[in-house]
Amino acid sequence: MKVPILELKPAYDELRNDLDAAYRRVMESGWLLLGKELEAFEAEYAASIGVRHCVGVANGLEAMQLVLMARGIGPGDEVIVPSHGYIATWLAVTHVGAKPIPCESDPQTYNLDPNRIETLITPRTKAILPIHLYGQTADMPAINAIAAKHGLFVLEDAAQSHGARCHGGQAGALGHAAGVSFYPSKNLGAMADAGAVTTHDDALAEKLRHLRNYGSKIRYQNDYPGMNSRLSELQAAFLRAKLPKLAEWNARRALLARDYFDRLRGIGDLVLPHVPAWAEPVWHLFVVRTARRESLQKHLAAAGVGTQIHYPVPPHLSRAYADAGWKHGDFPLAEKLAGEVLSLPIGPHISREQVAHVCASVRGFFTQA
Ligand SMILES: *Cc1c(COP(=O)(O)O)cnc(C)c1O
Repeated sequence: MKVPILELKPAYDELRNDLDAAYRRVMESGWLLLGKELEAFEAEYAASIGVRHCVGVANGLEAMQLVLMARGIGPGDEVIVPSHGYIATWLAVTHVGAKPIPCESDPQTYNLDPNRIETLITPRTKAILPIHLYGQTADMPAINAIAAKHGLFVLEDAAQSHGARCHGGQAGALGHAAGVSFYPSKNLGAMADAGAVTTHDDALAEKLRHLRNYGSKIRYQNDYPGMNSRLSELQAAFLRAKLPKLAEWNARRALLARDYFDRLRGIGDLVLPHVPAWAEPVWHLFVVRTARRESLQKHLAAAGVGTQIHYPVPPHLSRAYADAGWKHGDFPLAEKLAGEVLSLPIGPHISREQVAHVCASVRGFFTQA
């Protein structure tokens, strides 16, 4: 049995009629950017999250970058980011000229540890940028309380958490603004790069609508030095076709996650995800940990099971940040996680039989050795 880590074609098979109709609707309209499809998708996505505004942009990285830009965060400013996570979150800060200040994670949830944030706050700190990593939200009430106390802006990285909840509130509606990615492999994915900002803030949303389009409200009148970061009509139409499926697809992921928990508990040194009582994850990834990650990955590959590592190099040790002065040992937890995490296949088009095969293969690895 083969269990690929990711397959995008089955989503097309399931929604072929709707996606083909979306394509034809846009082609027949002859309107490709900043039109009715985007407007409709923004309204539908905002309603699904329960926020006042959704502003479509080109991708998740630029969504976060544009929010920081709109807030006037730049050179000389600091933004607190998780030490464990995807480098895009840090790059958004770097691209506006501000400095990412890494904060270690909670060792159980792998998300930003609220208990470690306050010691990192300086007069230069402007914002906190938690990631809802692997589809589970960070501890947002705790993070928001710290931010409120110090007058800081909270920007969620909601790229992996479409539909996730925290104390009942929805990811993307838990801070001042959120950057969302619709990269094809995300729980809600377009057919190319796409992203959005969600926010309750009217003025911020209005500013972002200009910043994504060269800083221009009226054509050829540029109020800010903006970017070209637009979500195309075609991608908006595809996202509109997929959005009604998101809840069902997330529920399928949750069922598989339950199977993983049932079948993988108490094996060797394998560490399963930790879900606090207040969290409702959407299982963008199902990430386990073991000190023998490399040999487990090889064993699974031989059994036809695809896996991935999210992420093998902590951002502070990435060559991209070679000039920033960080070194091995600076963020021990991030470095340990990077050496031990392994993502098992999960997704709306993976079957319970396939998950049973993955689990049997994992079990086989730990009992043989
Ligand atoms: C995918 C992802 C991003 C970047 O989104 P893009 O649309 O690829 O720019 C940012 N942060 C996290 C946590 C992600 O998973």
